[in-house]
Amino acid sequence: MFTIDELQAKLAGGATAVSLAEESLAKIESTKNLNAYISVLNERALEKAAESDKRRAEGKTLGALDGIPVAVKDNMCIEGTRTTAASKILENFVAPYTATAIEKLEAAGAVIVGKTNMDEFAMGSSNETSYFGKVVNPLDETRVPGGSSGGSAVAVASGTVACALGSDTGGSIRQPAACTGVVGLKPTYGRVSRYGLLAYASSLDQIGPFGATVKDTATLLGAICGIDPHDNTTSTRPTEDFTAKLNAGVKGKVIGVPKEYFGEGLDAECKAAIEGMLKKLEAEGATLKEISLPHISYAVSSYYIIATAEASSNLSRYDGVRYGYRSKEARKLFDLYAKSRSEGFGKEVQRRILLGSYVLSAGFYDAYYVQAQKVRRLITDDFNKAFESCDVIASPTMPGLPLKCGMNESDPMAVYLSDIYTVSLNLSGLPGVSVPCGMAGGLPVGLQWIGKPFMEADLLSVAAATERLNK
Ligand code: GLN
Repeated sequence: MFTIDELQAKLAGGATAVSLAEESLAKIESTKNLNAYISVLNERALEKAAESDKRRAEGKTLGALDGIPVAVKDNMCIEGTRTTAASKILENFVAPYTATAIEKLEAAGAVIVGKTNMDEFAMGSSNETSYFGKVVNPLDETRVPGGSSGGSAVAVASGTVACALGSDTGGSIRQPAACTGVVGLKPTYGRVSRYGLLAYASSLDQIGPFGATVKDTATLLGAICGIDPHDNTTSTRPTEDFTAKLNAGVKGKVIGVPKEYFGEGLDAECKAAIEGMLKKLEAEGATLKEISLPHISYAVSSYYIIATAEASSNLSRYDGVRYGYRSKEARKLFDLYAKSRSEGFGKEVQRRILLGSYVLSAGFYDAYYVQAQKVRRLITDDFNKAFESCDVIASPTMPGLPLKCGMNESDPMAVYLSDIYTVSLNLSGLPGVSVPCGMAGGLPVGLQWIGKPFMEADLLSVAAATERLNK
């Protein structure tokens, strides 16, 4: 792995952005076995890199990201390039416009080298549901890299790029970050525009950064956030320099430790790694405070009701008529819908659409969907209450080691349950970052820091302290 600073030092030493892009593209080629990329944008990347070199030659360099190769998850549109969401239904879809987050990245001079592999339509925690095949965890090939942004995490972990973008609906940035030993951040809902992100569950989806370091994650977040007239849920908050507080330390900070998070269900070695880090932070001047999140045990069930309900609605646009895959077998209109969708969507996506349509159906709407929305409010209230007495909350990112390959097929329920620590942040819109913290079973453990809305700078400051103590 390497950092933006290291690449910037190379550029300052006379390397060109074109040579950095070429190195990145060569590394993508030599690590093809990991299957982290769906599309590699060779020509486009070299063109953008040449533009960066031109700016540098003219003394008009744009900032920290100018000339830096970056990878983006394949559910974000780039005009004129294929965007598949890892689905057969969009196998040949060419985006007619560019996602705001990507437009902003390119405006900051970043060079997008490729579109990364993912669970189909971002549905999954294992990266095994992609139409283009699973992503391999470079740290242990018998275990998954986490999902659904596993391609982006592996792109960083395997040294093809210094940083990447993913999307997080219920943990899809934080979980793969934890499984591959990198840093991954889900911003506050509304921090980053969702325009041009293929929707999974719109009230939960958020784009966010991956990096080898907390600093790179902060740099990337600074580039992509801000209000967007194309997305009315974006916040009016001004963009910040998220790297400003990275050296502030934790002295005087109150860390909330939810008692529900450190009991049953958490692997003993992971627990020891996290508790060891909390002790070190205490020695640095932080105060640990036990807190309670009484409704948290309902988070996974309410998340899967709300996420699938929204997914069933969002995915109704893939009908075989307007764009995407169309079945050649259909003779009647109904068959066109049914066949295109059942041939175009994979098994997991169909399972989600069925579940979502069921919980929204007239007879069950009150019993499931309305109830889940009520629980969502209770969980948000739990966090609001907890934050009255602490500055940040510490949590595991995953309940244990990365899952063994094949579990999505054999035991999907167990895979859903592994989202226990991450989904509640999406339900309540809070920011969270997963940062490496010790080892368990020879693999890195992820510590998740949860913050108050729009307090990413504070969150990253605590994450940076964790990173320093993890050496
Ligand atoms: N594992 C969760 C799901 O499958 C979250 C996925 C995500 O964050 N995109 O819905």
